[in-house]
Amino acid sequence: GSRWSLKGTTALVTGGTRGIGHAVVEELAEFGATVYTCSRNEEELNACLKEWKEKGFSVSGLVCDASSPPHRENLIQQVASAFNGKLNILVNNVGTNVRKPTIEYTAEEYSKLMATNLDSTYHLCQLAYPLLKASGNGSIVSISSVASQTSVGSGAIYAATKAAIDQLTKYFACEWAKDNIRSNGVAPWYTITSLVEPLLANKQLVSEIISRTPIKRMAETHEVSSLVTFLCLPAAPYITGQIVSVDGGFTANGFQ
Ligand code: NDP
Repeated sequence: GSRWSLKGTTALVTGGTRGIGHAVVEELAEFGATVYTCSRNEEELNACLKEWKEKGFSVSGLVCDASSPPHRENLIQQVASAFNGKLNILVNNVGTNVRKPTIEYTAEEYSKLMATNLDSTYHLCQLAYPLLKASGNGSIVSISSVASQTSVGSGAIYAATKAAIDQLTKYFACEWAKDNIRSNGVAPWYTITSLVEPLLANKQLVSEIISRTPIKRMAETHEVSSLVTFLCLPAAPYITGQIVSVDGGFTANGFQ
């Protein structure tokens, strides 16, 4: 029934051309949502839009660097005009990582991580708020990471951006419940995407990751997108302010 459908709803998913964002675009569209997405690479974006059209999904998109203030403002303006000023779902998916020991980070790397992960999420939530409110039924899902909760060996700045996103998620849930907007986070562990592909050649790292993960493998993108979708469904109206891990048991595992 309609508790398990997104028919008639609108969604914005940032960074939808690859990885987790790509899976989220497809799953929301499969459940009936009309989706808007963005990425920085025009060619890749157009190829995805063409593919989605052929699959019968209702997806449009725009080139946008989510770390840029004018790009973000333009994105929300375009979404507002495409969806008549109303947005049901905002998925803050754009994010990147630089893995190195803390003393080796440059000031530029610090700023880029903050701008790409944290600034994009905060400002897009603020900009999208009137649209989410106007829809009468809004849901924000921000892609966090298990690194927001526990040290994962490298990437202190990334972890700090994700922990900050978790706290924003809780504040938005409390501030905007009166506007019928929910806000949740999804925290994956290693998921096979273009972001982690370069690490897969490091056999020692991969075997260390697997050894700490009760379900002895990394995640597939559709195993993350299903939770994102669930949190947006009419079946989840009482879930807000939560950060839910999709981690094969990693954060539950104190013993190897
Ligand atoms: P990918 O790098 O595989 O995909 C990222 C997507 O976002 C691409 O479509 C990319 O397109 C787009 N993108 C990146 N930067 C920007 C930007 N500044 N503006 C607009 N679009 C952008 O990443 P994942 O799918 O692996 O990661 C998605 C999210 O999941 C991130 O927030 C990440 O931190 C989080 N995550 C991932 C994990 C993993 O193991 N993969 C684990 C935990 C969390 P383009 O480059 O062309 O702009």
